[in-house]
Amino acid sequence: MVTETTRDDMTWYECESCGLMFDSEEDARQHERNCDEENQDPSYIQ
Ligand SMILES: [Zn+2]
Repeated sequence: MVTETTRDDMTWYECESCGLMFDSEEDARQHERNCDEENQDPSYIQ
């Protein structure tokens, strides 16, 4: 899941799975798709 974070008057998009931050929501969502595929954990259900 991608969460929105405001820091220093900038909006960042954080991948909840690994904590990576992106300045573009599109980048974050694109990363999230790959991230989820690589880090599948059946016990982690949001
Ligand atoms: Zn990630």
